Amino acid sequence: MSLKILLSGAKGRMGVAIASLSGEHGCEITHPIDIGDDPAQGITDCDCVIDFSLRDATRPLAELAGKHAKPMVIGTTGHDQEDRNAIEQTASTIPMVWAGNFSTGVNLLFFLTQQASRVLDAESGFDPEVIEMHHRHKKDAPSGTAERLLEILRESRSLTGEDVSHGRSGMVGERKPTEIGSHALRGGDVVGEHTVMFAGVGERIELTHRATDRAIFAAGSLRAAKWVVDQAPGLYSMQDVLGLSAW
Ligand code: NAD
Repeated sequence: MSLKILLSGAKGRMGVAIASLSGEHGCEITHPIDIGDDPAQGITDCDCVIDFSLRDATRPLAELAGKHAKPMVIGTTGHDQEDRNAIEQTASTIPMVWAGNFSTGVNLLFFLTQQASRVLDAESGFDPEVIEMHHRHKKDAPSGTAERLLEILRESRSLTGEDVSHGRSGMVGERKPTEIGSHALRGGDVVGEHTVMFAGVGERIELTHRATDRAIFAAGSLRAAKWVVDQAPGLYSMQDVLGLSAW
């Protein structure tokens, strides 16, 4: 039997992509909600709530899901700390998957970067750098995914945000051992590319993910929905859905 989904942001780019893939993932969008609709109308009749809308819509929707004990998947980004805290609080009563990136490949890239960082640590002599490329319309840099990769590298070397060098220009001097370079390329219609490079002396390792279709995020969120309905209340990541947290 299909999983009945209440989808918030149903008319948006992600909402349309999720609806078009729902059937092949064993889900049905029984309650498509967009701006102006009342999610309370369909909440009692759905199995799971998926949110890819606007940051202001997530918190009231999470509170509604919490009140009706409905599992939830959140893909919407850009929440402030107050909203994050309130939404996370709701996760103590319902199972919730919240991920800034639902691509299987990107989550594997996070995992592989964590593993590689353990071996190629500060003592290894390898210099980490992150390179990302996106389409010409992207307004922010670095991407949220690149930020997460930089965070993983910083954590592994006990560095702070000040150790990240965003692009290099002019007489910047030699690369410091504690430095991590971050480089954002923009152009054309590139959906998203991320490379973590560990440059050593005489050898270099590169971990690269290339996204060619936004449908990967839609497919990941449906996979998360099918997974989350069987979980105990709590806040989960896409790493949990993919079984990477246990490694
Ligand atoms: P979009 O602008 O195309 O669509 C957003 C939709 O939400 C619109 O149809 C809008 O009318 C609707 N909306 C606005 N207010 C609403 C409300 N109060 N209730 C219900 N619907 C409301 O944006 P998009 O590209 O589909 O992205 C949606 C969100 O998902 C963004 O925050 C984006 O950053 C995020 N996103 C996350 C991932 C991921 O993997 N986690 C991937 C892509 C996009």
